[in-house]
Amino acid sequence: MLRMLKALLLTISAIPATAQQLPEPVGHALLHVIAHEAGHAVLREFDLPVLGPEEDIAEDFATVFVYLTLPDQAEAIVEARAAQHRADGATPGPFSAYRADAQLAGRMICLLYGFDPDRFNALADRHDMDSDARDTCADLAPEVLRSWRRTLAPLWIDPEARVTEVGFRVDPALQVQAEGNRELINTALGVLARIDWHSRVTLNFAQCDGTAGWRRNGRVIYVCSSYIDRMIGQLDR
Ligand SMILES: [Zn+2]
Repeated sequence: MLRMLKALLLTISAIPATAQQLPEPVGHALLHVIAHEAGHAVLREFDLPVLGPEEDIAEDFATVFVYLTLPDQAEAIVEARAAQHRADGATPGPFSAYRADAQLAGRMICLLYGFDPDRFNALADRHDMDSDARDTCADLAPEVLRSWRRTLAPLWIDPEARVTEVGFRVDPALQVQAEGNRELINTALGVLARIDWHSRVTLNFAQCDGTAGWRRNGRVIYVCSSYIDRMIGQLDR
């Protein structure tokens, strides 16, 4: 019993106090990350054609998906994730699957602005978009939105259906953190549950040293603890 209590205390003391309730921008950035991994899952699970760089497709999907499923939070989500990309600031080489972080940040702001230029005018102001950029984004974003709207049309779940195909798993060491972030987790699960998956998809908060990903084997969207800690350092100002 004493040993169990000691182990529990050790686990709790190993968790940074700030991590028990994640700062709002971190929660927002995480929702975009989870939506990005859901993009990989949608491509793979429904055998959609990958007619371009998959990372770009998943990243655009994330922005479209949060806009469609969390319209009131979409602006805060995109700005938090853009800030986190800029803080990462990576400039991958010519053969990387990933674009430069500054481009990823710009692309999601461009898309969201272009989905509804009147509504997101202040967003464009805050990110110094000039009139050429605004024209470009207002032109290209509706095409992306329309393409996903058509692609997703048969994949939304019937609102009357009982969702059984989305689950959550947390590694034991992160249990306390998960408890403190119930609302965020429920929001993420609610977003994932909008798709009519044909097999169970599990969101996993994992004790690992990495970022996030979609694991086809077991159909798991995992988010690593080290990624969340990195975001806290980048966004909790
Ligand atoms: Zn990806």
